[in-house]
Amino acid sequence: MGEFPIALKGAVGHAYILEGGSPDRLNIGRAFAKGLNCLSHDVTVSGFAEACNACLSCRVFESGNHPDIFFIAGTKATGIGVDDARDQIVSPMLTQPFKYKYKIFIVDKAETLTPAAQNALLKTIEEPAPYGVFLFLAAHVHTMLPTLLSRCVLVKLGETESIADLEAQALAEEVASNITEMDILDTLATYRRFEPYKESREAIANLLDMLYLSYAGRIRQAAIAGENIQKIWYDSIAAIQHTKQVLAQNGNFQLSIELMLLKLNGQSQKTSE
Ligand SMILES: [Zn+2]
Repeated sequence: MGEFPIALKGAVGHAYILEGGSPDRLNIGRAFAKGLNCLSHDVTVSGFAEACNACLSCRVFESGNHPDIFFIAGTKATGIGVDDARDQIVSPMLTQPFKYKYKIFIVDKAETLTPAAQNALLKTIEEPAPYGVFLFLAAHVHTMLPTLLSRCVLVKLGETESIADLEAQALAEEVASNITEMDILDTLATYRRFEPYKESREAIANLLDMLYLSYAGRIRQAAIAGENIQKIWYDSIAAIQHTKQVLAQNGNFQLSIELMLLKLNGQSQKTSE
């Protein structure tokens, strides 16, 4: 595990969100919880200190049976729902810790908390019990309500998937799945979806990489399944790479993207037949 985030070393707050930093996120959350309840130091006096790994609390934690540190998991495929939040967090938070200083709730995959679950937690977070600590671990926080975010200390752990990345990925997938079904006018109209990327060389390169990956993924899947690999997928990859090069050399944005879209659509094959 890397260096401990500075924001976690200050005074002990009641609610933290650790965003990004997979796969370190859970390790950091675990180490933080263990350090808070470690008996070898008084964290409210000294600020956070790392766990001693020798005291009873540390040893019980490592055995997986710590009575005051809870790992919250959703019980449904749809994520962590309102019942999970009430049963696993809100109700248990009402009672004092069993033995140690803090009662700590580690909510992994917090980005899957439903809005109703987040709302159910607001009051508990806003008026925390003196012993209560929340650690929300999230790949990204954009599914989390502003009302929840504003009540937590946000600690960013390196790489996160930004909204811009997710949007670019969605656009790439959509284009790759639909473009061969489009007529020529719709194909050209798709250019409008690319226009917001015009001003940033980095953003368009990123989008083209994602487009490349969706075709590469398709080829890989077909290969694994023993299905035919379509020639247009290879042609599309070549067209995407070419477009990336042209744009990196300041080629005309609209012409390059439109030409690429026509190639992805299969126009060059249709006209030569
Ligand atoms: Zn300890």
